Amino acid sequence: MSENIREEIERLGYRVVYKPHPVMKDYNATYNVIYEGKRITNNAGIKLKIPTNEIWVSEKWRKYEKYILFHEFEEIKFRAMGYGIEDAHYLAEMECIKRFRDDPQWREFVVELHISDVENVAFDIKKIIKT
Ligand SMILES: [Zn+2]
Repeated sequence: MSENIREEIERLGYRVVYKPHPVMKDYNATYNVIYEGKRITNNAGIKLKIPTNEIWVSEKWRKYEKYILFHEFEEIKFRAMGYGIEDAHYLAEMECIKRFRDDPQWREFVVELHISDVENVAFDIKKIIKT
């Protein structure tokens, strides 16, 4: 694991692409990559038609790039080992906790991400009740 996660990702031939938050709000970040000869993607990657070897990230999280890319890349590696989408997500988050738990900027990111996710879901719930 190099110090610069973006360099490591680009060395594998992947492109990091920023997209507007409204496009990415349900996912924050997602991917469609070939890793160790396996295609690693998910429903979001398919729905958004992400080209091969791209990782898409919401513009909203640009200032937290190193954390979000670390999470996505760990998730990709767990997926390649055979873990399912949800398990790989939690295992990747555990790697983030191990690596960043004492990093105040990461803790700020986790809180902002949580607020953003809850607001997003709550907005959808309210919309359903109104209609
Ligand atoms: Zn994840």
